[in-house]
Amino acid sequence: MLILECPYCGVKAEETELAPGGEAHLKRFGPGSPDEDFEAYMFARKNPKGVHFERWRHAYGCGKWFLAARCTATLEVFGTYPAQTTEPPADIVAKIMAKRPDWKGYK
Ligand SMILES: [Zn+2]
Repeated sequence: MLILECPYCGVKAEETELAPGGEAHLKRFGPGSPDEDFEAYMFARKNPKGVHFERWRHAYGCGKWFLAARCTATLEVFGTYPAQTTEPPADIVAKIMAKRPDWKGYK
């Protein structure tokens, strides 16, 4: 079972207490942007086997959105952080690099 620690209330919540929100750190493209960029924003999502950054909501807790870095193959969690963070925090990236030397980075 996937267990994520909510960075707001500190609760270690099981997956059933959380609501998934898809890929984290999407760059949004709106009206006036090139069709290719808008299409990629709307429909293209990463689906890696390995390190992934995701949005989650502590639905049956404080109700707040947060971001999580985890491995989709092993469910290992590298860390969670507030949803307003625009890039993965350096300490979480360092933790991933230490455990997954072949990881190519989040972009
Ligand atoms: Zn919470």
